[in-house]
Amino acid sequence: MNILMVVSASVIVFTLGASIGSFINVVVYRLPARLSILWPPSRCPHCLNQLKAYDNVPVLGWVWLKGRCRYCKSKISVRYPVVEAITGIVFLLIFFIFKVSILTISYWAFCSWLLALSLIDLDTMTLPNALTQSGLVVGIIFQMVVGFLPEASPEALVNHLMKAIVGAVLGLWLFDAIAIIGSIAFGKVAMGAGDAKLAAMMGAWLGWKYLLLASFIACALGALVGSGAMMRSRQLGQKMPFGPFLALGSVITLFGGEAILSSYLRLFFPAS
Ligand SMILES: [Zn+2]
Repeated sequence: MNILMVVSASVIVFTLGASIGSFINVVVYRLPARLSILWPPSRCPHCLNQLKAYDNVPVLGWVWLKGRCRYCKSKISVRYPVVEAITGIVFLLIFFIFKVSILTISYWAFCSWLLALSLIDLDTMTLPNALTQSGLVVGIIFQMVVGFLPEASPEALVNHLMKAIVGAVLGLWLFDAIAIIGSIAFGKVAMGAGDAKLAAMMGAWLGWKYLLLASFIACALGALVGSGAMMRSRQLGQKMPFGPFLALGSVITLFGGEAILSSYLRLFFPAS
């Protein structure tokens, strides 16, 4: 590929990602409030004026409005363009790693679900069933599509379907087990039911091996951030949403899972 093609492909992929990010903002705002996701079109939450198409351009719209509504001048949170930019960057990274392939499209979907779930969990401390369940279904469909590709072997479809189902079931069990152990050890539930459903969704996409790695990374990051927050505020037992850590663990696993697992195995089984 020459440089011009790389640049134009990057611009197209980033714009696509940022537009999906703009839609994720809508989902995150409207789904917990039980509003329709498709109607009405984007409008200012204060004065309810409908946004002009050119104000709705991802990232740039916020910049040229200087972060204020065109009509009532009330502030528009910087979170909106940040979410759009992050989605664009994640789409680009996935595109550079997995090139033009079915994996790229499916990981775009996976990361979009993870980002929407993380933001809703941060806002409301819940993980809506509508998202975890649809994400699980899309993950299983993705595994079936990969198993159905022309270059796949005849038994690949069954193998990939099994991979998705085993991963999903393990995700549910794993987090139910953590919740039970947590409630015995600490006298309260350490994980919500939503976390187990998110883990089931991750298991379908990642398979059991990478689900375990992603969960381990999530727990390590959660413990790190949790102890940091505890030291700052000197408060015990403050609730912290776990969904964003699971999502972060999944994304790290997508980008570096193979490298992490193989270096881990080399460390403990140098002969093999
Ligand atoms: Zn307004």
